[in-house]
Amino acid sequence: MNSPVSPVSPVSPVTIIGAGLGGLTLARVLHVHGIEATVYEAESSPSARTQGGLLDIHDYNGQLALQDADLMDEFHAIILAGRQALRVLDPDGTVTLDKPDDGTGGRPEVPRGDLRQVLLDSLPAETVRWGHKVSGVRALGEGRHEVTFADGGTITTNLLVGADGAWSRVRPLLTDAIPEYVGKSVVETYLFEADTRHPAAAKAVGGGMMVAPSPGKEIFAHREKGDTLHAYVGLPVPQDWFDANAIDFTDAAAPATLARIAQEFDGWAPELTALIGESDTTPVLRSLHALPSGLRWERKPGVTLLGDAAHLAAPNGEGANLAMLDGAELAKAIAAHPDDIETALAAYERDMFPRGAEVVTFDGEEAHGTGSSSGPGSPDDPAQALLDLFTAPDRTP
Ligand SMILES: Cc1cc2nc3c(=O)[nH]c(=O)nc-3n(C[C@H](O)[C@H](O)[C@H](O)COP(=O)(O)OP(=O)(O)OC[C@H]3O[C@@H](n4cnc5c(N)ncnc54)[C@H](O)[C@@H]3O)c2cc1C
Repeated sequence: MNSPVSPVSPVSPVTIIGAGLGGLTLARVLHVHGIEATVYEAESSPSARTQGGLLDIHDYNGQLALQDADLMDEFHAIILAGRQALRVLDPDGTVTLDKPDDGTGGRPEVPRGDLRQVLLDSLPAETVRWGHKVSGVRALGEGRHEVTFADGGTITTNLLVGADGAWSRVRPLLTDAIPEYVGKSVVETYLFEADTRHPAAAKAVGGGMMVAPSPGKEIFAHREKGDTLHAYVGLPVPQDWFDANAIDFTDAAAPATLARIAQEFDGWAPELTALIGESDTTPVLRSLHALPSGLRWERKPGVTLLGDAAHLAAPNGEGANLAMLDGAELAKAIAAHPDDIETALAAYERDMFPRGAEVVTFDGEEAHGTGSSSGPGSPDDPAQALLDLFTAPDRTP
């Protein structure tokens, strides 16, 4: 571990916007290196929003970040055993792959909320300032920036990091790029006590992850804690398709909405459409957006981006992993050059740009049922692509 940085270091405290997995990993690895950080987060508290969903944390990126964060024991404690099992089903319910979790896979599944809590618990109190929504940022010259919050408050900083996700408020300091709709939306559903209340769907999903792909659309589901099923239903439709079809995502409209979405899977096996029609929760719509692949910017003093703020891609199983790796790598670059911010940021961005571009073209997106049927790596036979993906040897860094 490096020796603590002098309190008069020009980088301290590092100002991080966003307490997602990327921003928190940055703060934690800086802390490991004795560098102070303050994280400004729009949400009012750690529990303001359900963090939902399982994340598979990969041994070639997310786990490397957790090693740098000195949190591997805490990570192992939250792994859901058995959830690396994989089933691939044809739309008619035929099982084309049934791979048990033998405990040797390199992608253990953890609840996103638990992982975020591990990171929060590892930080000194007051590191995260909740209820601080950034409304604007302004360059003051010589690498300094002013950050304005929605309540009118301001701070100035020598080192500003935008870890504020897809719709980053920091990004405009560096690039005019804005995320564009990728031509696909996902509808999320949950089925509770599935083994007893939704047995056919529970059997179809099995003990871990299930994907039922077809050209363009797919149903993807996880068995989360206990016997909760969480499904992601991918639809290749224009962004205004839901409004045009009067599909309403309010609580009151849920039964009709679920029936309408299930209609798009007419003819599919009932144990698969049950993941839509039998949802115990109001369905949630997620419109998928991405930044241009290979986005780069000219180095500007005193500011950089990480995670989705830097290289938002359609979900491909890598985004959270990559945000964490970005956070760890940026922290290490700062620790290596605590008195030379520009050298640190240049070194970080030199490696981050190709890393972010690679993830856009990695065909793991089919694993999450959200792959574009016309994008890079798109398969003519999605089931075969999934088989190739999950039976391939694990990637190495
Ligand atoms: C349906 C779906 C499924 C996915 N599945 C996976 C998966 O299985 N594996 C995986 O690795 N990735 C997955 N991803 C991608 C992953 O969620 C993101 O890549 C990851 O969360 C990015 O982390 P981040 O820290 O960069 O940003 P975020 O997680 O978006 O965090 C940004 C933080 O900044 C805060 N913020 C935003 N604006 C402001 C503001 N103005 N002021 C202050 N704070 C602000 C937000 O509240 C948030 O806390 C999935 C994404 C989707 C949509």
